[in-house]
Amino acid sequence: MNIVIMGPPGVGKGTQSHAVTDSKGVVHISTGDILRMGIRSGSELGRKVYDIMTAGDLVSDDLMMELVKDRLSQDDVKDGWLLDGFPRTYVQADGLIGMLDEIGQKIDAVLVLQAPAEEIVRRLEGRITCRSCNEVANLTGFAAVQPRFCPFCGAKEDPKRPGKPALYQRADDKEDTIRHRLEVFRKRTLPAAWRLEERYPLYEIDGLGTPEEVGARIASVLG
Ligand code: ADP
Ligand code: ZN
Repeated sequence: MNIVIMGPPGVGKGTQSHAVTDSKGVVHISTGDILRMGIRSGSELGRKVYDIMTAGDLVSDDLMMELVKDRLSQDDVKDGWLLDGFPRTYVQADGLIGMLDEIGQKIDAVLVLQAPAEEIVRRLEGRITCRSCNEVANLTGFAAVQPRFCPFCGAKEDPKRPGKPALYQRADDKEDTIRHRLEVFRKRTLPAAWRLEERYPLYEIDGLGTPEEVGARIASVLG
C-alpha cells in the first residue's frame, strides 16, 4: 500500500504516520526528518536547507524531488510506503505523479488532516522533539518541568553531540514562524492536494480529538 499524508504543521501527521506504518507495515518517509538529519550531520544538503527551514519556508522543488526520487528507488520501500511532508507544492505533486507513472505505481490513499489555526499554534508551541529518535511530544501545560529523558527512547543526550540535551524545541516551532508555515500550507500545499485528487482517492480527515480518535478515522478510510 502507498499512502500520502498531508496537513498543516502540528496537525498530527507525525503521530498518525507512526500508527499507520505500524498497522499497514509500510515504510515511513518523512522529508522533514530527512532534512533535519542532514542538518545535524552537517552534510552539504543540511547546509543548503538550514536557513530556509528555520524561517519556515519551503526547500526548492528540484532538491526535494531529487531527494524523494532517490528514496523511493531504494529497496526497503518496495512493499509500500507512507510519504509524510511531500508533496508540498503543485509542482512536487505533478512531479510525484510523473515519477509513479514511470515506475508503474500508484497512491492508494491521500490523507489530508485538518485542524483550525488556533489549535495548531497551541499544539506547536508546546511541542518538543527528540534529537535521538525524532519523536515528537506535546508538553503543553508542562513547560515548568522540562523532562530530561525522551519519553520514547529514553535518550538524555544528543547521540551525535554528547552534553547537548536530546530534547529540544524546533527552531521553526515559534509562534511567528508557525503562522508563516500555516500560510505556506494554505497557499502552496493545498493546491498539491487537489492535484493529487485528480488521480488518486483523497480523504479529508478531522484532526481534532485525541490521537486515538483521529487514528480511528484514518483506519476507517484505509480499511
Ligand atoms: P511539519 O512540522 O510541517 O510537519 P516537516 O517536519 O514536515 O514539518 O518539515 C519541516 C520543514 O522542512 C518545512 O517547513 C520545510 O522548510 C522543509 N520541507 C520538508 N518537506 C519539504 C518539501 N516537500 N518541500 C519543501 N520543503 C520541505
Ligand atoms: Zn527519543
